[in-house]
Amino acid sequence: MQLYKTNTLRVHNSLTGKKEVFKPINEGHIGMYVCGPTVYSNVHLGNCRTFMSFDMIFRYFKHLGYKVRYVRNITDAGHLENDADEGEDKIAKKAKLEQIEPMEVVQRYTVDFHETLQKFNFLPPSIEPTATGHIIEQIEIIKEIIAKGFAYEVNGSVYFDVPKFNENHEYGKLSGRKLEDMISNTRELTAQDEKKSPQDFALWKKAEEQHIMRWPSPWGDGFPGWHLECTAMSTKYLGETFDIHGGGMDLKFPHHECEIAQAEAGLGKSPVNYWMHANMLTLNGKKMSKSTGNNIYPSEMFSGENDIMSKPYSPAVVRFFMMQAHYTSILDLSDDALQASEKGYHKLMDAMESVESLKTGKTSDFDYKAWQQKCYDAMNDDFNTPILIAHLFDAVKRINLIKEEKENITEEDKSLLQNTLNNFVHDILGIENQKAAKDDSSALNGVVELLIDLRNEARANKDFATSDKIRDQLTALGIQLKDGKEGTTFSIN
Ligand code: AMP
Ligand code: ZN
Repeated sequence: MQLYKTNTLRVHNSLTGKKEVFKPINEGHIGMYVCGPTVYSNVHLGNCRTFMSFDMIFRYFKHLGYKVRYVRNITDAGHLENDADEGEDKIAKKAKLEQIEPMEVVQRYTVDFHETLQKFNFLPPSIEPTATGHIIEQIEIIKEIIAKGFAYEVNGSVYFDVPKFNENHEYGKLSGRKLEDMISNTRELTAQDEKKSPQDFALWKKAEEQHIMRWPSPWGDGFPGWHLECTAMSTKYLGETFDIHGGGMDLKFPHHECEIAQAEAGLGKSPVNYWMHANMLTLNGKKMSKSTGNNIYPSEMFSGENDIMSKPYSPAVVRFFMMQAHYTSILDLSDDALQASEKGYHKLMDAMESVESLKTGKTSDFDYKAWQQKCYDAMNDDFNTPILIAHLFDAVKRINLIKEEKENITEEDKSLLQNTLNNFVHDILGIENQKAAKDDSSALNGVVELLIDLRNEARANKDFATSDKIRDQLTALGIQLKDGKEGTTFSIN
């Protein structure tokens, strides 16, 4: 039987502000959309935290046996500076600065994004669509919104009419804002403004002469507004109403609020059943952010080349550190906190490595079944990873007591313990044992060194058939031998 049938999951729904029992639209299936990165620069650790929270959620759903369609987009057009409707496109600006094509910017930072996530042991999403690949879908939605009377065209641009929408819908319901308050807090429109109201937002922007990223549309050459791409891509792949939409807390307003408005206006349906928001990673108590420079990049963390940390930290340790906080809590990055996480990580990995060799007996001094249930209960309670980790350390304590022969464990409990630890640590939290990986690579290095010695002996005995065979077969396995003055070295592809 699938585990989801016996596990009642409760998730915090930002739309209602409550923890709710999770019930997918189609039993056994989940559609989840998460706003992806804007690929105009390298991802920082803050971005990684949000994506990691949803990677953990995706992993837990899969563990429970759900069939998940996880869509995480790439924003490669339409995201303007300061998240506003004016100013330059972030990607076009970078392209100008570096004197390269916008699509070169996109390619460079998409590759960086994927490489970084791979180091952190992320699972790939099921679909990773791009905004530029869905211009036609975005234009179609704009046409619908105009046809329903919730958008208007001015001078080649199209704006969403927020006050009109608010007459019979609730603009602000996700972020808890009221349109009246927003209106009284904003400046008056000037004569140059095209919008009827300052709260209106762009669905389509006319491309001025110098704007390089442009597409033809019924309103002339232009480009889509940032909020629209997520409405187009989420509903295309997951349906007009789907289960979960996620992103960082900072996207609640205006991005997600506008997504709701677009879908309700254009498609006539509330798009999402559960809105989930991950909280921010801070540095020195302030939000980590690309624009303020208050950030640290994953590569700087792994190499130790930064002014903040006293030493390098591996991707697994950083991932463990992030999983020690609940995804809805703010997490502050500091050297002290990482040092503590590193200690904890090694303690956990050492304990897990030693389970295999634990001696078993006729009885157990600990209720392992109840402990396993507690691990599930923690995750079922809105993915409470810090509580889960506290339970994992209860198991570490037990393992150490058994090693010291102060407690006993049965064979059956030992395999339950081993499986449960593997499931929660590796499969659900996504934390790898990088020490074991290193041990594997040192074993491989030892084997190659041994083969190099055998090849040298063969060459010394003029047995070139054997020496060539060793070199050729290693090459076929992706291991290149290089003969130099100092002897033979090798590289592994
Ligand atoms: P962006 O590339 O700016 O569109 O952001 C990509 C994702 O990272 C979004 O879901 C943001 O909410 C999230 N994000 C940005 N800054 C932080 C931060 N300091 N901590 C956690 N998530 C963040
Ligand atoms: Zn989005």
